[in-house]
Amino acid sequence: MEKLTFDRLGLSPEVLKAVAALGFEEASPIQGAAIPVLLAGQDVVGKSQTGSGKTAAFAIPAIEKTVAAEHAVQVLVLCPTRELATQVAEQTHKLAAFKRGIHALPVYGGASFERQAHELKRGAQMVIGTPGRIMDHMNRGTLKLDRVKLVVLDEADRMLDMGFRDDIRTILDAVPAERQTAFFSATVSPAIRGLINRYARDPVTLDIEQKEVSAPAIEQWFYEVHPRAKFDALLRLIDFHSFRSGVIFCNTQRMVDELADDLQAQGVPSDRLHGGIAQAQRTRVMNKFKKAGFEFLVATDVAARGIDVNDLELVVNYDLPYDPEDYVHRIGRTGRAGKSGMAVTLVGGRDLRKIQFLERFARTKIRRGTLPTAGEIGEKRTDALLARVRSVLAEGSWRPHSNTVDRLLEEGVDSTELAAALLQILAGPVADEPKSASPAPKPQAQPKAPTAAPSAQRKAAPGKLWITVGLGRSELGSPRDLVDLLVEGAGIPARDVGVIDLGESASLVEVPAAFAQGLSPSGNQMETSRGMITVTPLSDRRKKPKKHKPPHGR
Ligand code: AMP
Repeated sequence: MEKLTFDRLGLSPEVLKAVAALGFEEASPIQGAAIPVLLAGQDVVGKSQTGSGKTAAFAIPAIEKTVAAEHAVQVLVLCPTRELATQVAEQTHKLAAFKRGIHALPVYGGASFERQAHELKRGAQMVIGTPGRIMDHMNRGTLKLDRVKLVVLDEADRMLDMGFRDDIRTILDAVPAERQTAFFSATVSPAIRGLINRYARDPVTLDIEQKEVSAPAIEQWFYEVHPRAKFDALLRLIDFHSFRSGVIFCNTQRMVDELADDLQAQGVPSDRLHGGIAQAQRTRVMNKFKKAGFEFLVATDVAARGIDVNDLELVVNYDLPYDPEDYVHRIGRTGRAGKSGMAVTLVGGRDLRKIQFLERFARTKIRRGTLPTAGEIGEKRTDALLARVRSVLAEGSWRPHSNTVDRLLEEGVDSTELAAALLQILAGPVADEPKSASPAPKPQAQPKAPTAAPSAQRKAAPGKLWITVGLGRSELGSPRDLVDLLVEGAGIPARDVGVIDLGESASLVEVPAAFAQGLSPSGNQMETSRGMITVTPLSDRRKKPKKHKPPHGR
């Protein structure tokens, strides 16, 4: 399906500004189909689900048709429930925010009749309400419909199910015959067809029947989470699977900005791409993402179309796409070329139905997943830690340290205790306290490091780990320079960079544990204005700077 940007729909600058403020980048299929037809004055029948963007599909043309100077009801939207009427009114307010003098009023039962009557008298031009209360206002003379130009029936099938058929007919009989009528309904039953035949004139049926597409055969999971728990769920999945990079899709620019900020605040290296970012900057972000291989990119579909990476280990649908084709494009970027990849969709509440819709139109199976618990995340970390220990044992690269260990054993330290203490230093606090746990158990107090041991100087602060950066005193003016490079090249917020220890040709830096754990043991390249710089987790002894002075504070 061809994508339309809102500026191609012939909208006023005020509405375009509102759409941009909401962060919508492209019209959803129902919007692209309905807006031009409604603007042209034709009646429509739109088959549409919640979550398809149908509200803006009728609210935008309704706003454009409303004459601010005329203080009479010009648009009437009928909704089955008070909740829907409130939602539609809220979205209409946002879309009309830059149009002066347009008032949209929700009108439903259970709220003060007098207040609504007062507001109607003040000259609301758009009325959004439930049929019963609208009838009450009509009967008591507080709502006049003789200037109505457009009537919208939102979720017409539900209104009929709820027994509003007679009310709807009474209302439609009361509005001027030459008005425009729009029916939005998930299904078009014979009863709806009857209403359409009677009340619509030559309606255009919006055929947004989705084209079937074939999703690639990759692992696809969905997790049912409350919208407010999505962030926590995302962190858990990243943690549990030790993902180091991937693309996380959101539907609006605003959501991209919020999520990228939240990830950075958690020390998860991330960057963002959306249509509101200048092209030069987008290219820079893209190149950095491709080269680094250790960060997450939060993106909208529009911005991501320019991404020419397709062997991602993770793609996340943080918001569900409107169009199965977008879903297929998004997930098609994982696990190509024989590599394994995972596509994850986070859905909540009413959007759950859209999973079946996607399965049908993308001809695929999306399996339901269960989020890992804090305990499972901890276990997984322990397994990873032990695997690292085993590989060091197998390689024999522990030998240079055997004298140090002997010293401790001679002091009478128990070997199990010694090994456990070393693991504690290695694992850091995050190993037994997943950062994503919610409700968050209290962090356990970390045992104080023994001050006399030489390794104490190396123990990173809670939540942090040491990494080495391939730049030393000769290239860097001050520790501050290194902070700036980490902010620029890895997206680590400056406040999250801990102690810095400048060496001759390389330096040690304390960074958020999540970042350090995301690095490949052999190091990663970080792109900065000073060129590519190697960053390596400290546990890889071969990359350790040869010499370093005691840590400088910042
Ligand atoms: P609806 O189907 O009208 O209930 O809309 C579902 C959600 O999608 C609402 O939260 C809207 O704010 C959002 N939305 C609607 N149109 C767009 C769009 N073109 N781009 C991004 N988000 C949208």
